Amino acid sequence: MEQGYEKVWTGCLAVIRDNISQNAYNTWFAPIRPVRLNKNILTLQVPSQFFYEWLEEHYIDLLKKTIKKELGPNGRLEYSIVMDNTCHANQPQPFTVHAPTLNKKALKNPPISMPVEMSHEPKGVHGLNPFVIPGLKKLNVHPQLIDSYNFDNFIQGDCNRLARSAGIAVGQNPGKTSFNPLLIYSGNGLGKTHLVHAIGIEVKDHYPEKTVLYVTAEQFTNQFIDSIRNNNQNDFVHFYQMIDVLIVDDIHCLAGKPKTQDVFFHLFNQLHQNGKQIIITSDMPPVEMSGIEPRLLSRFKWGLSADLQVPDFETRIAILQKKIHNDGVEMPQEVLELIGSKIKTNVREMEGALISILAQSSMNKKDITMKLAASVIDKFVKNAPREITIDYIQQAVCKYFDLPLDKMKSASRKRETVQARQLAMYFSKIYTKSSLAVIGNKCGNKDHATVLHACKTVKNLIDTDKRFKKYVAELQNIIKIV
Ligand code: ADP
Ligand code: MG
Repeated sequence: MEQGYEKVWTGCLAVIRDNISQNAYNTWFAPIRPVRLNKNILTLQVPSQFFYEWLEEHYIDLLKKTIKKELGPNGRLEYSIVMDNTCHANQPQPFTVHAPTLNKKALKNPPISMPVEMSHEPKGVHGLNPFVIPGLKKLNVHPQLIDSYNFDNFIQGDCNRLARSAGIAVGQNPGKTSFNPLLIYSGNGLGKTHLVHAIGIEVKDHYPEKTVLYVTAEQFTNQFIDSIRNNNQNDFVHFYQMIDVLIVDDIHCLAGKPKTQDVFFHLFNQLHQNGKQIIITSDMPPVEMSGIEPRLLSRFKWGLSADLQVPDFETRIAILQKKIHNDGVEMPQEVLELIGSKIKTNVREMEGALISILAQSSMNKKDITMKLAASVIDKFVKNAPREITIDYIQQAVCKYFDLPLDKMKSASRKRETVQARQLAMYFSKIYTKSSLAVIGNKCGNKDHATVLHACKTVKNLIDTDKRFKKYVAELQNIIKIV
């Protein structure tokens, strides 16, 4: 037989269901369990502190109305929070909090229909706010941080000095330094993701009560799209507004997504205004990002932009040593040096080669010799997808025409030199994401109009000059098999 409290709650749910979206209902009301009805006080069990705060923040009016309808004008609510075992293993369970239905808004403007009952207010250091429960985290947001991506494991070198020390400063004083936002940029596999996780972990170490969240720009975009689809955009925005330290990885992925940029822009302003810390990463400095709205770009420039460069040989070896030390394996120093000398521009690839060598040796029960290492690295280097850079294109073109690099970059107007320079510009435009200004700058300090002109000239020559067309086709093949 249905208990009294179940009947009351079923009545409430019927009204609630009619007033909110199905998705909001499933998210916030379906998990609630009624547990008790004592006189006119209905006790609801909710799965977390966060859940409780969310209900109080967003659904208080609706809850008040329905309780009043079911239990009369003196009806009240209490919450029993049963914490999730996995996150709060050492919390006493169940944890019951007696909380009158009252939030900050209600304090300023006491509701007539719900008498304010202060007798259950938890006493103690938390002063006026009756809802702060000692020993519980304010929010139950999982920060999504990877433990091993910490500062201890992040090797310092000339390549990352500024970014690393700015990161430590932000980690120790989030929102309080002038590095807000902190933008870390670099090419692929050079440690952006690792560094921003380390900052998040540093914040958590110093300020366990702060809400830290790591998301990729792609996750952010998908959550936003889902919220539109499910008609709970407000929940999405509110959720992000509660974060103290927001880390968004690979922000360049927002390029060409004006709606997501728009919502991120407003969120950025709100968090920034409230002294919250924003950390973002990108594959370009703000000046070179394309497809991002100018107003957002200008925000990115407010704080500090710091890059991660390709580590030098010593740093590469130190990274490899740290890695094998952490994994508890051994490898001859000369093998590490071989990896470090063959793979130069991407730490992730270097680690990939290291893992492949270990795997080969253990699967085939062979010792790690230079021969084994060389064969693995060889395959690895050949198969690894490489990024085509302006520098690489310039070298390929110069080698093809047997022209010294500095000559190509000089102001020489000699026909062969001009042609090689124009081809380097043309291929850079096609194969890299760099702007015309950057390409011009790298190809002998020319402006963007010169690059545009070069691209047009090359296209014309391909159509009219057979020999030139052959050069282009051959060069294209060379460049594409980097
Ligand atoms: P990105 O986000 O720039 O593409 P990641 O942060 O994913 O690069 O780094 C790729 C790999 O290289 C990770 O496993 C990371 O731990 C490692 N790595 C990069 N830089 C360093 C460093 N300075 N010290 C230690 N490990 C590093
Ligand atoms: Mg990354």
